[in-house]
Amino acid sequence: MSGLDDNVATLKGVGPKKIEALDDLGIRTVYDLLTYFPFRYEDFRTKNLDEISDQQVVTLKGRVAVTPTVNFFGRRRSRLTIKLLVGHDVIPVTFFNQPWLKKQVETGDDILIYGKFDANKKSMAGIKILKPGDGEKFGSIYPANHKITQNTIRQLVTEAYDQYQDQIEDFIPDWILQKYKLENLKSVITNMHFPKNHRAAALARRTAKFDEFFLFQMRMQTLKQQKEADASSVIIPKRSALQKFIAALPYRLTGAQDKVVTEILADLGRPYQMNRLLQGDVGSGKTVVAAIAIYAAVLAGKQAVIMAPTEILAEQHANSLANLFENTKVNIGLLTGDTSRSARNELLPRIKNGEINLVVGTHALFQKEVKYQDLGLAVIDEQHRFGVNQRKAMREKGQATNVLSMTATPIPRTLSITAYGEMDVSVIDELPGGRKPIKTAWIKNQQIETMLKFVRKRLNDGEQVYVVVPLIGESDAVDMRNVTDTYQSFKAEFGDQHAVGLLHGQMNDEDKNEVMDAFKDNKIQVLVSTTVIEVGVDVSNASTIVIYDADHFGLAQLHQLRGRVGRGDQQSYCILIANPKNETGRKRMNVMCSSTDGFFISQKDLELRGPGDILGKNQSGVPTFKVGDPVVDINILSTAQTVAKEIVDDKNWEQEPQNRMLVKRLKSLNQDVKFD
Ligand code: ADP
Ligand code: MG
Repeated sequence: MSGLDDNVATLKGVGPKKIEALDDLGIRTVYDLLTYFPFRYEDFRTKNLDEISDQQVVTLKGRVAVTPTVNFFGRRRSRLTIKLLVGHDVIPVTFFNQPWLKKQVETGDDILIYGKFDANKKSMAGIKILKPGDGEKFGSIYPANHKITQNTIRQLVTEAYDQYQDQIEDFIPDWILQKYKLENLKSVITNMHFPKNHRAAALARRTAKFDEFFLFQMRMQTLKQQKEADASSVIIPKRSALQKFIAALPYRLTGAQDKVVTEILADLGRPYQMNRLLQGDVGSGKTVVAAIAIYAAVLAGKQAVIMAPTEILAEQHANSLANLFENTKVNIGLLTGDTSRSARNELLPRIKNGEINLVVGTHALFQKEVKYQDLGLAVIDEQHRFGVNQRKAMREKGQATNVLSMTATPIPRTLSITAYGEMDVSVIDELPGGRKPIKTAWIKNQQIETMLKFVRKRLNDGEQVYVVVPLIGESDAVDMRNVTDTYQSFKAEFGDQHAVGLLHGQMNDEDKNEVMDAFKDNKIQVLVSTTVIEVGVDVSNASTIVIYDADHFGLAQLHQLRGRVGRGDQQSYCILIANPKNETGRKRMNVMCSSTDGFFISQKDLELRGPGDILGKNQSGVPTFKVGDPVVDINILSTAQTVAKEIVDDKNWEQEPQNRMLVKRLKSLNQDVKFD
């Protein structure tokens, strides 16, 4: 016996058959077995009758009142009834097709039965008869397959634990355990398999997730480290000038913004191309973070670009960045597919000679003819809107261009990238203070009058309103309003007192911009639009958004749309109009009404639609994790990444005594990462 890397074959009673079955579950060594964790627990603790709700699965403790009876139906089917005296009540407990259980109980015995309680009939459908003592326990439930049963796994785990528990050593260096308040490995293994209570299990699970993500990230980071270092991508931040810039902003950065700025600046200073994803909910203030990174690049004598998915958004960025960079040496150019030929001809040489050091635009930024003098940083806003190829084209534009991608949606594509470790992740998990949470209401089509009354009130208070409609043209197939009809009816309703504007994707860009500008300048009070307003648009006087046929949008998209309001000091509102056809649809509307937290909402979206729907079939390559869930546990995943990075940043990390066990653990892990 040598240690946790022993083959499972060394355990008692493990022959070729079990070895094969365990191998199918990815278990080869004792370590694998000890970290093969239950995915849930059965609570075997006994309960009193008055604590139990209908259909709850519980353990009852009682005395066998009379000799149990078995009725047979045909050859195989039978029903065993045990009358159990619990306190003063007699509860009939039935077991189907397990006649042999009768022999295990006798009249007068005190026994424990685990089963499903029927409160109306005061009876129980028995699942199993427990051993004395089990009534104080939790039962671990493991993922099993047809070759190996729950019980066998449980037995083997217990055996491995009894034999090897004194040899469980931590592979995570001490400073990490302390800094992140993690449990040591022995306690994780103990509390995952044999928890005293749910809390102990939950705490252990937190560390177990970290351990799993951390080992994964260590492998990713060591792979990355093998890349050639490239000094030309280094941007050394000019700290004092940046501080001044930040101090001059009209607001203070939130703690979360501060944190991600630090991460980004540190990354820019490293001799590798940055490839970082900045995640932050709508309105969390990603733009100013990007601006700080851009300023760092410009101060270091480099150029920067920021790419947006739509002309409207590009233009808006150009305007707000022009404000932020007033009185600095940042010279901004705007380049979109819409830029006139003459403007373009004038712009390109100035980009090439470096006179323009920040170019804002759409993917037109990366056409062949656009040459940069020294492109140091590319920011991609709403990165999930761009295809892999567009992003690749951009990365290849500069020799060693650092890339900062930004997204408000923790969607699976992002997720797979994250899990791959191809990107580093920064998360803004806090909204600027002082904002009032948006109030959301869901109404039916029949209640539109109420909505109109409400909108009128908002308008009379001087506020502005978005109205969003799913479709542009006529649609007889589905019962959806089209945007022009809605525009006409709002005009008829409010046109005499307020200006109503129309915006949709089939308008040309000039017209679109004109309408957007008018809305921004409050020359239009009601903007009826398709989802073109979805991303980024920032008009703080708009307090209300009305969304028609809301059940036709995904939750993530509704959340994005709703994020158009709630940007000023006034209370903001979102009104969802929908007559959903099924329960899931109703649930989705209720999720929107009950939460404004983007991460929560996207998680619910996953639950309600199922990951298969969202991930799609061709998203293979997403690594599978045993305890951690990269969507739900994104914060743990990114912490694990930070820590792994910190370790491999030290060139001699493999020689450090504190990392000895970690090196050993990584070596003995399966070399190849397991993919779906
Ligand atoms: P998003 O992350 O959705 O792109 P934006 O960058 O558009 O968010 O920011 C939303 C609004 O919040 C903008 O009007 C911006 O000026 C403002 N903002 C950003 N950071 C702060 C802050 N720390 N305090 C107050 N307001 C902020
Ligand atoms: Mg934005």
